[in-house]
Amino acid sequence: MKSMTSTLQQKPLDPLVILRTIFGYKSFRGEQAEIIEHIINGKDALILMPTGGGKSLCYQIPALCMQGIVVVVSPLIALMQDQVDALKQLEIKASVLNSTLSNKEAAEIEAKMQKGMLDIVYVSPERLNTERFLTLLTQCKISLFAIDEAHCVSQWGHDFRPEYTEFAKLKDIFPNVPRIALTATADELTRQDIIKHLRLENGRVFSSSFDRPNIRYRVTPKDNEKKQLLSFIETEHKGDSGIVYCISRNKVMGIAEYLKSQGYNALPYHAGLDNEVRRKNQDYFIKNDGVIMVATIAFGMGIDKPDVRFVAHMDLPKSIEAYYQETGRAGRDGLPSNAWMVYGTEDIVKLRQFIYQSEAPAEQKRIEHQKLDTLVGYAETMKCRRQILLEYFGEKTDNKCDNCDTCLEPVTGFDATVAIQKALSCIFRTEQRFGAAHIINILTGKEDEKIKRFNHNKISTFGIGKEFDKFQWKSIFRQIIASGLLNVDMEAFGALKLTAESNKILRGQEKIYLRNETIKEKPSKSKKTETRKRTSFTDPTSEALFMKLRELRLSLAKEQNVPPYVIFHDTTLIDMIVVMPKTLWELGQISGVGKTKLDKYGKLFLEVLLLPI
Ligand code: ADP
Ligand code: ZN
Repeated sequence: MKSMTSTLQQKPLDPLVILRTIFGYKSFRGEQAEIIEHIINGKDALILMPTGGGKSLCYQIPALCMQGIVVVVSPLIALMQDQVDALKQLEIKASVLNSTLSNKEAAEIEAKMQKGMLDIVYVSPERLNTERFLTLLTQCKISLFAIDEAHCVSQWGHDFRPEYTEFAKLKDIFPNVPRIALTATADELTRQDIIKHLRLENGRVFSSSFDRPNIRYRVTPKDNEKKQLLSFIETEHKGDSGIVYCISRNKVMGIAEYLKSQGYNALPYHAGLDNEVRRKNQDYFIKNDGVIMVATIAFGMGIDKPDVRFVAHMDLPKSIEAYYQETGRAGRDGLPSNAWMVYGTEDIVKLRQFIYQSEAPAEQKRIEHQKLDTLVGYAETMKCRRQILLEYFGEKTDNKCDNCDTCLEPVTGFDATVAIQKALSCIFRTEQRFGAAHIINILTGKEDEKIKRFNHNKISTFGIGKEFDKFQWKSIFRQIIASGLLNVDMEAFGALKLTAESNKILRGQEKIYLRNETIKEKPSKSKKTETRKRTSFTDPTSEALFMKLRELRLSLAKEQNVPPYVIFHDTTLIDMIVVMPKTLWELGQISGVGKTKLDKYGKLFLEVLLLPI
């Protein structure tokens, strides 16, 4: 690949000029300009920005403005490769240095670094810690260290990487080289950890809002999960890329098969699959449009595919951090996207059981229980979901978001005190030996085999809860188990046990309000058009043109074996259709079309745009 600038020349210095001519963007977003200026002035920083906020430009532009090489540390190979592919499209001198390279290839890149022939190098944490590599770096001119996914330094987080704690020594070895840490997930504890362990005490903290306004959050009670998922995808996401998270490997395989049988391009991903299969599936997901990845949490870190239109959770994640990080993989390009989750009593029970049975020390178990309870609280809330999420990350807001289920279709509460008293006394009468399903049968007066066997059709609570149907009772039980009013005894096959709290209710000392739920098989029509209108077109001509542009993009991407979005993002294609440029100059004005891409692809895209449909 030809170099745009010779390294011996002065690098161009104005960040805004670089943003416009090379990246093809009109203006900086949020605090980008300030951050870049701070870095160019040689100062340290901690940068907290949500996924898709534009963190990478914060070190990529300094790489073109500052003398020397920017070293980016990132824990994931896929992410590094993607970023380097995207930078190479812009003819920026970028390289990865990780275990996928042969010794010879690595040696060539190292030689280039010593000669100052690279602007930016992505390295793995392991490599950065080796004596050999550090010595090599001392022989190069380094302009900046950018430590990506910096939350990995914190033991409190879920992505702890011990190698990250060693980066503290960079301050001693390279006292004059600025260091920045970047992350999209950091509560207060993690922030403090990052500053402490990476020794950024003298740096500045840039903290943007963690809000992802384009993501719509929804949580639905689990009823028939497969059907619910299918109906969600059918009505809202036909032809879209998405991720479906499941708790277990078996379930991943089952759901992937199911979606395939329904005609979807779905692939499985979990840690039990062969490395080769995993790599292939991930690559296919990234390099094609409209693929659904069904996966455990083993999938996703370092995936920066911008056009993931939905993230579906078939099971509860472990914490709000995990949920926010996973749902955050939707809609990096800023277009409307969905975070959708189904959840039921069995999820709470299963996760509580995992924690209960784990070998972790008591203190850690306590924290894990607490984190799970906070997430359950989120799932059960009647408040705006976004408010709860942002509050968790320390951002208080009084405004409702109008883009989550509780804002769009407010949930009403109802006084459930009497219903709960009936349920609790039924549990008491049956000696706290049965699970929810059986208790519900007693309450609704269903005379099945088991009821008869235990003579439960003869007790006073038989049929006293007929004012609610089975679904409503399930919802009541889920909510009272979630709130800790009832315990589920793991040792006794899920038998429900009363707690000290339940006694208060039985004695009528407290009133309890619960969500009034109805099951929705299909989301309403109006909502569907609303979410989709900005990612596809209502008139067929524009939609057809969009497909043609995507086809061209895919064929160019295939030729170079890169993901389609490194050629142009969906947002750029959509702008092309809205603006309908007639000349190359006009095309060059569109966001995402920089000088290099205009030279490389401008003519081809213009041809498609000018062709009658
Ligand atoms: P993050 O690393 O914070 O998740 P990225 O750096 O990948 O986010 O940026 C998300 C997307 O937004 C990328 O496609 C990027 O090119 C785009 N982007 C970043 N900054 C700007 C900007 N100032 N104007 C337009 N698009 C931008
Ligand atoms: Zn809301």
